[in-house]
Amino acid sequence: MKYYILFGPPGAGKGTQAGAIAERYNLKHVSTGELLRAEIAAGTTLGKHAKALIEAGSLVPDYVVEGMIEHLFSSTRGYAGFLLDGFPRTLEQAKDLDKILSDRGEKVNGVISIMISDETIRQRIAHRAAIEGRADDASEETISNRIATYHERTEPLIEYYRKAGKYFEADGEGKDINEVREELLDLFLGTDKSLQGKHTVIDDKLLDQLQELAHESARLRVNYDLRNGEDDKSQRMLNIFWPGSKTEPHRHRSSNETIIVIRGELDLILFNDEGIEVERLHMGGDSGIYGANITKGAWHTVEPKEVSFVFTGKEGAWTRNAKEDILVPKE
Ligand code: AMP
Repeated sequence: MKYYILFGPPGAGKGTQAGAIAERYNLKHVSTGELLRAEIAAGTTLGKHAKALIEAGSLVPDYVVEGMIEHLFSSTRGYAGFLLDGFPRTLEQAKDLDKILSDRGEKVNGVISIMISDETIRQRIAHRAAIEGRADDASEETISNRIATYHERTEPLIEYYRKAGKYFEADGEGKDINEVREELLDLFLGTDKSLQGKHTVIDDKLLDQLQELAHESARLRVNYDLRNGEDDKSQRMLNIFWPGSKTEPHRHRSSNETIIVIRGELDLILFNDEGIEVERLHMGGDSGIYGANITKGAWHTVEPKEVSFVFTGKEGAWTRNAKEDILVPKE
């Protein structure tokens, strides 16, 4: 079984994103917050104890959530693994989880995090309160306590999982739900191979799987990260593009970018500063051109002619392009 943690402050959108990720990878989504709210709604003894703590924005005791989690690990069948949302939330819980898993001969496969600022946490929770009517979203005081609890008790987990080489972060600030989802799905692809401690073979089987995932993706493309974790500050990835996928013309100001076509056929298009196309290089297929070294600072994009697989590498980890590094091309 695989064990993934969806991490992030309250209001980061973990619950919103979990469904699509869990479905894509056949994982059982486990939200300890939802389990506790169900206990409260059912009026169980556990629910009665948890209610006051939750409504104050405090954490329930570790043994309570750990009991629920262990029960689920033992009783769930038919999934490839678990997507834990809202657990672990303290260092003790993280260490206990490691112990629970090692007793089962398992481990945490990856931690995928959605990061937003305190200001955005407040806005998102206020918005959610209006829609879902959660008791712990209602008062300013409870929200402040949840933010403080997050910083004091939960944030240290970032360092814990970073040290273990298992932490991958998506920036959830100022992006719509779909953009964040695509980024998270890409991160999942990355954890899947780099955390198994084996080498990744880039073969037809992998390419076929990625081709399928890219087809299912809203933007018709995926990035498959080849690094070992976020500490690796290079960009080394496979990009899979279906025809019709759009890559906005952009530039990398601090490094060349090397692009090598592995399968398929695509045009590499270069622009000048005015957004006018100045060169089009047909690559792959039987063109006899296998790739290019794109000069530092050059505006470029690719236009796939069929499903295309490329390797891209440059100095500096992949990040979403800043506004000033995106070009609006002129017709
Ligand atoms: P959530 O839906 O994840 O925001 O959780 C709602 C509330 O449930 C939290 O503010 C806590 O009071 C409680 N809770 C959920 N998960 C945990 C956990 N792992 N440890 C302690 N308390 C939790």
